[in-house]
Amino acid sequence: MKNVTEYLYPSDLSQALILYAEHEESAYIAGGTHLAAESRNNTKRLIDITRLGLNEIIDGNGEVQVGATATITEMYSSPEISKVGNGVLKKACQLIADTPLRNAITLGGNISRLYTWVGLPVVLLTLDAEVEIMNLHGERKRVPAADHFANGGVKDGDLILKVRFPVRNAWFHSYEKFSLTTADYTWLTIAFAAEVKDGKITDARLAVSRITKATRLKAVENALIGQEIANIDVESLLTVLESSVDIVKDFRVSKEYRRQLLGVLFKRMIQKLQEETK
Ligand SMILES: Cc1cc2nc3c(=O)[nH]c(=O)nc-3n(C[C@H](O)[C@H](O)[C@H](O)COP(=O)(O)OP(=O)(O)OC[C@H]3O[C@@H](n4cnc5c(N)ncnc54)[C@H](O)[C@@H]3O)c2cc1C
Repeated sequence: MKNVTEYLYPSDLSQALILYAEHEESAYIAGGTHLAAESRNNTKRLIDITRLGLNEIIDGNGEVQVGATATITEMYSSPEISKVGNGVLKKACQLIADTPLRNAITLGGNISRLYTWVGLPVVLLTLDAEVEIMNLHGERKRVPAADHFANGGVKDGDLILKVRFPVRNAWFHSYEKFSLTTADYTWLTIAFAAEVKDGKITDARLAVSRITKATRLKAVENALIGQEIANIDVESLLTVLESSVDIVKDFRVSKEYRRQLLGVLFKRMIQKLQEETK
C-alpha cells in the first residue's frame, strides 16, 4: 500500500463505480486485511466501500442474503446466519483466523479473489450460493458460486454486493478446517452437504480448498448419489476422491500428508452423516 495517494469514501454505489473507473490504479477496500499485507501492490487510489450500507443480513423466501461488507464477526453473531445449512455457515465463520481479524475481514473480501487459504468459498459451493455483482456500467448479475470461483473471482472493477445463501436445512451439512492453530494458514478446508431420502443419498456437494483452488469434486458427488446410508462404500469413494484432486505444492507440508488428511476428514464426515441420519 506504499503507493497509495488517495483514500476515498464514496457516498453511494454509483459514485464508487465512477471513482474506480476514472483512475487506472484503483482498488476497492473493505476489511483491508489482504490489501494491507500485499507488498507488491501498485494501487494509488483506494475506494472504501464499508460505508455504503452493504452489510445487511436479511432472511426471507428460503434464503439469507448477506451484504458484501458484513464482517465475519457480524455474520457469526447474526441469528440469521445460524439458520443457514443447520449452522454450517456460522461454523465456517467461527474457524476464520482470530477475533481482531474476524472483526475486520468481510464476506466480499473473503470471496473476491481465489485465495486458497480463505474459509468461506467451500461453504458457498456446498450451499449453491449465488454472488450478486455490479459491473462498472452499473449492471447487476447473479452468478452461481461454482461459476464465480471457476472464473477466478471478480473481474477488474466488479463490485460484489451480496451473497444469497439458500437456507437448505433439510440437508446434512459438515465443515472442517485443519490448521495448527486457529490463526495459522489452513492445511485443508473441506465442506460436505448431502440430501438423504428414504435412507439413500439423493444429492451431494463436496468442496475443498487450500490443497487446490476452491472447487467442487463432482466425481465424488456423483459416486455418493444413490448410496444407502447404512452401507456407504467408503473405500471406493476414497479411490475416487484421491483421483479427483490434483494437490498443489505447499512448502510446509507434503502432498502425501495432505492426501491422507483429505481421506481422514472425508471419512469422518461420512461417519457423522451416518450417525445423524440413522
Ligand atoms: C494473519 C492473517 C490470517 C488470516 N487467516 C484467515 C483464515 O484463517 N481464514 C480466512 O478465511 N481468512 C483469513 N485471513 C483473511 C484473508 O487472507 C483475506 O485477507 C480476507 O479474506 C480479505 O478480506 P478483507 O475484507 O479484509 O478484504 P480487503 O483486504 O479489503 O480486499 C481484498 C481484495 O478483495 C477486493 N474486494 C474487497 N471487497 C470487495 C467487494 N465487495 N467487491 C469486489 N472486490 C472486493 C479488494 O479490492 C482486494 O482486491 C487472514 C488474514 C491475515 C492477515
